[in-house]
Amino acid sequence: MSYRVAFLDLDDTLYPPASGVWNAIGERIQVFMMDRLGLSYEQATGLRRRYFEEYGTTLNGLWHNHAVDPQEYLAFVHAVPLEEMLERDPDLAGMLRELPQQRVVFTNANRQHAERVLACLGITHEIDAIVDLFALEMVNKPEPAAYQRAMALAGVDDPAACVLADDLPRNLHPARSMGMTTVLVGPGPADGGADVHIQRINDLVAALPRLREPIDG
Ligand SMILES: [Mg+2]
Repeated sequence: MSYRVAFLDLDDTLYPPASGVWNAIGERIQVFMMDRLGLSYEQATGLRRRYFEEYGTTLNGLWHNHAVDPQEYLAFVHAVPLEEMLERDPDLAGMLRELPQQRVVFTNANRQHAERVLACLGITHEIDAIVDLFALEMVNKPEPAAYQRAMALAGVDDPAACVLADDLPRNLHPARSMGMTTVLVGPGPADGGADVHIQRINDLVAALPRLREPIDG
């Protein structure tokens, strides 16, 4: 069985955490919660952690419990100077271009943010599709239904034909249980429970040479 789809998480996976992007978004999330819910910084931190654990994203917790409008929230928290924080990555573009698989960004963020990130990295044309929070109908990673939906949208029905690269072990666990090949990207724990652990997404093909195999059938 050759791989047909490479699912790639976006934030902290296609660019390194050291870029500061995710920290900057996190600060905007804090401000949004303090402003909307009248919380102190510490209270916002605590609630954010709780929602992240219980709902997979802060947004999903805010949506379920406080009727926050997802589009408004996402526009606010993603208003960070990505263009100053991310650089074009020609090596990554080259690696992706040579993959015979369908390359699908699979993210709990929204399409607008994903498209901006891809443009900053210079890999817009190396990505075939984006499965975002709205394509997932607000049922995001790590909910098992999110992976089923992503596969359906990518037109595959066999998890064994899929690879998922993500910086969060908890987003990889359901995929691995289903039978996808999982790749932990970045400084995550050595016992992250993934099939493969790489420091940078650019090492993907070197760590998983089967990705080079032409697609059969
Ligand atoms: Mg991520």
